[in-house]
Amino acid sequence: MSDSSGINKNFRRKKRQFRSVTELVELILTGDRTALSEAITIVESSLTQDQDKAADLLNQITPYTGNALRIGITGVPGVGKSTFIESYGNYLIKEQKKKVAVLAVDPSSQRSGGSILGDKTRMESLVTQTNAFVRPSPAGTTLGGVAQKTRECMMLCEAAGFDVILIETVGVGQSEIAVKSMVDYFLLLMLAGAGDELQGIKRGIMEMADSILITKADGENVAAAERAQRSYKNALHLFPMNENQWTPTVQICSSIEERGISDLHQTVESFFNHCTVNGWLNHNRKEQAVDWFKEKINHDLFEHVQRNDRLRQLMNDLIAQIENGEVSSYSAALSFIKALNW
Ligand code: GDP
Repeated sequence: MSDSSGINKNFRRKKRQFRSVTELVELILTGDRTALSEAITIVESSLTQDQDKAADLLNQITPYTGNALRIGITGVPGVGKSTFIESYGNYLIKEQKKKVAVLAVDPSSQRSGGSILGDKTRMESLVTQTNAFVRPSPAGTTLGGVAQKTRECMMLCEAAGFDVILIETVGVGQSEIAVKSMVDYFLLLMLAGAGDELQGIKRGIMEMADSILITKADGENVAAAERAQRSYKNALHLFPMNENQWTPTVQICSSIEERGISDLHQTVESFFNHCTVNGWLNHNRKEQAVDWFKEKINHDLFEHVQRNDRLRQLMNDLIAQIENGEVSSYSAALSFIKALNW
């Protein structure tokens, strides 16, 4: 028995390896989850031989992307992101009849050896839904690399027919900026009662938010959540209007009691209506795509240097000279660029 299933497994693996990109694309467009996972493995691969395949794959699916609501979700660890995503995801599937993909950008995953956001035990009821797809943060050596792969994964999910893409990230540092640059709507989760400084939320992140959602508004927390709602509303008045001309909202919710979830969804719908009508959505997506192109060139150039023995050696020599105070960073960079023979 175990022999035959072993043979089957090998056979399936072999069969998958020989599937052409076109075949894979056809399956993805039918919503086939195995093909989707296979495609994600290809775009996440750092092997050189997979890169052309990934490029071909992404090119072929591009005409079928862009139909989803792209939503970024951030907030400090413990604020209730995964509980909220589970509650909102289930609401979207059951009440709105949507297909929901949940992705993550977690730059800490390669340092800690395990992803904070990718923990399989989270979102337990969502992962069992046939209309949900939950993917942990990809591994990578740089935040740029991790984020790029998440963006490509989002494209594949869109081609596979997912209507809403929720991209989660931790509310500390640069990863918000990366997520903001791949989504349409950016949601910041906040706790009532703890000061902004305590939550480690920088003013810049609050400025990026299209909505603030105060979590855990249940039991004894309700009054505090309402107070926090009033004070964030006042604070947001002082911020300049975003380019999308949307006035940020401040709402409260309880994910465990499933209250405030449908209100938040109404806000999401209003946001998308507003930004479709004023043309921002389309304009912003084009701008984002160009920015990602530039970002990828930056990232790939650096990888190219790392892989080329001559250039890597030159870079290390120049680093040593900078550390010894023999050359300035400025002139070292100039001589490095000249050595590229452009
Ligand atoms: P994350 O680190 O931001 O993903 O936060 P989690 O979703 O893991 O939640 C952190 C803790 O807060 C867990 O113990 C949750 O059970 C709890 N929690 C999350 N949402 C709610 C809520 O709506 N109400 C209450 N009372 N607790 C919540």
